[in-house]
Parts: sequence; C-alpha cells; structure tokens
Amino acid sequence: AREIRLASRPVGYPTPEDFELVEAPVPTPGDGQLLVRNLVMSVDPYMRGRMNAGESYVPPFALGAALDGGAVGEVVVSRAPGFAEGDVVLHDAGWREYGVVDASAAVGVDPGVAPLGAYLGVLGMPGMTAYAGLLEVAEFREGDVVFVSGAAGAVGQVAGQVARLRGAKRVVGSAGSPAKVRHLVEELGFDAAFDYHDGPVADLLAAAAPEGVDVYFDNVGGEHLDAALLSFNRHGRAALCGSISNYNTPDPVGPRHLGLAVGKRLVLRGFLVRDHEHLREQFTREVGGWVADGSLRYRETVTEGLERAPEAFIGMLRGENVGKALVTL
Ligand code: NDP
Repeated sequence: AREIRLASRPVGYPTPEDFELVEAPVPTPGDGQLLVRNLVMSVDPYMRGRMNAGESYVPPFALGAALDGGAVGEVVVSRAPGFAEGDVVLHDAGWREYGVVDASAAVGVDPGVAPLGAYLGVLGMPGMTAYAGLLEVAEFREGDVVFVSGAAGAVGQVAGQVARLRGAKRVVGSAGSPAKVRHLVEELGFDAAFDYHDGPVADLLAAAAPEGVDVYFDNVGGEHLDAALLSFNRHGRAALCGSISNYNTPDPVGPRHLGLAVGKRLVLRGFLVRDHEHLREQFTREVGGWVADGSLRYRETVTEGLERAPEAFIGMLRGENVGKALVTL
C-alpha cells in the first residue's frame, strides 16, 4: 500500500523533494479499529504549519512517517461494533491508500446524501470553520458589511455566502486572480471582489467597501489584516481564522495599524473550529439545506492519484485551487 511521507521540513514554499512516496505493508487493525481504503483526501493550509519542527496547536508531522489529515474511505475490515465492511467513514488517516483508524475517531457518512468530497469541504471542516467563524466568533449580524479574504477558497467561499444568505448589507471578497474575482461576483453572489495583486490591499478594499467594514473574516493575515483595520467601522469585529500570506515566509508581515483597534473599539478574535462543535447540528441543517436547494454554491479542485497529493498541496498553497482542494485515490 502506498503512502506519502515527509522527507524533509520545507523552508519557505514546500517542494516535491520534501515528500516521498513509499510502498508499505497494509496495516492490520486491532480491537476497536477499522482498516479503511481511502477514496478521497484533503490537502489543507494548516498542514504547512505541521511540517515545521516547532510545536503549535497540533503536533508537528514526524520526518520519515506518513503524513495524515482528513480523508473519506471505505471500511475493508471492521474490528469495532457499529461499523461494517463497505461502510464509508470520515477520518484523519489521509495521505495513504490504506489506513488503520480508531473507530471512536471515525464518523460514518452517507454517500447518498452528498458527494464524498463535500464531507471534507462545504459540509465538513472548512464549511464548519466558515460558519462558526462568521456567526459565533465575529458575531455577524444582519445588515453588516462583511469582508472575506481568501474568498474563493474552501473556507472563504462558504463564509461569504453564509453572510449573503443571512442578510449582509454588502459582501466583499478578495482573491488572487481575475478568474476568481469573476467567480465570486458572478457565481457566488458577492457584491464586490478584487484581485489583491492589483494594488495596495488597503486601497482596493476602501474602493470595494466605501461605507467601511463591520465584519472581517481573515484567512490571509498580513497586508489584508492591515487593510481591514483601516476600513473597519467603529465596533468592527474580525474572526482571525488563518494567515496564509505568512505560512511560507520566514519573515512574516504584521499589521502596522493595530493601534486603530483602540479608537474604533474593535474586537479581533482568533479561533479554532474544533472549539465550536456545539454548532455542528445547526451548521449541517442550515448549510446542508442551502446546498441542497442550490442557494449556496461551492467548487472543488480535484487532483487524481495519491502520487500527486504533494503537487495538489503545493498548488493549493500557491492559489491554484478554486474552492476545496481534494485528491482522489
Ligand atoms: P483555501 O482553499 O483558501 O486555499 C488556500 C488559498 O490561500 C489559496 O487558494 C490562495 O488563493 C490563498 N493564498 C495563498 N497565498 C496567499 C497570499 N500570500 N495572500 C493571499 N492569499 C493567499 O484554504 P482553506 O479554505 O482550507 O483555508 C483558508 C484559511 O483558513 C487558511 O488560512 C487556513 O489556515 C484557515 N483555517 C483555519 C481553521 C481554524 O480552525 N482556525 C480551520 C480551517 C482553515 P488566492 O488565489 O486567492 O491567493
């Protein structure tokens, strides 16, 4: 069975040489475990942080060991009650063809309800991140002007549309290409969008949100966060979700205008999706409903073949994906 291992810790952007495709024996499940054959796996920005040596909110990946992460697969052997051969489960043993999973950490999914990739995207961790970040962390209220960075990605595409569907006054998005900008406005119903390569982000945001910003959903950090500080209205709220503009730079860019938070009485709140599990049912009902009736649209960028997972991961970090970046096995 093939698996992808971390061969070296990337410096700056990862390269294909940082990964290694290895043939390993198919593992044997013990009591309470499942052997799963993976069908689709996720590549996510947070994995870049785990490739560094330092401890963060998740332990670093080990050198020479298979990577892991969200995946959906079919149970081949079950040694746990409640799961049978042929069941489809969501679990955390991605980056490999066959994985052993603790049944307590596996969640059954219904392939009849949504395509498998949706459980890793719009109806999974990224969708939940968008929902919790916007509604609970940033305390979005009807009538707010909302700015979402990384808006054409897995989290951003949901955050902007939840804001629209929950009655935002205006939803503004930023992304990295003209095609993504068109997609945001024409397909996802953003009121305005800009390509952040087109000038200073502060100027582009000020032009796209002339009445100022009440809520900022921050996927990017750096210059984007700085721009939001300048555009914020009094009592603005930011959900600090990620800072991908700094993930591959040894010398991070920080916001220079943090001082504005004082006079504007801003709330800037970091969060991790795992602390918002209590919203799961509401999220599944509301976002699942919007997906089913077509009012919330989503994209996926699918790369075929486990051997191409490093390429898909590196491409995602460079903005080659629209919507959720996935790898089918
Ligand atoms: P995406 O699908 O958005 O993919 C990453 C995107 O980041 C790329 O497509 C690219 O789009 C953009 N990007 C890359 N470099 C830069 C840059 N220098 N400046 C601006 N944009 C850049 O990933 P996700 O939706 O999965 O994740 C989005 C964010 O949410 C990340 O910061 C991630 O770490 C965070 N996150 C946080 C969670 C939490 O619990 N707090 C949970 C899940 C995700 P473009 O073409 O627009 O540049």
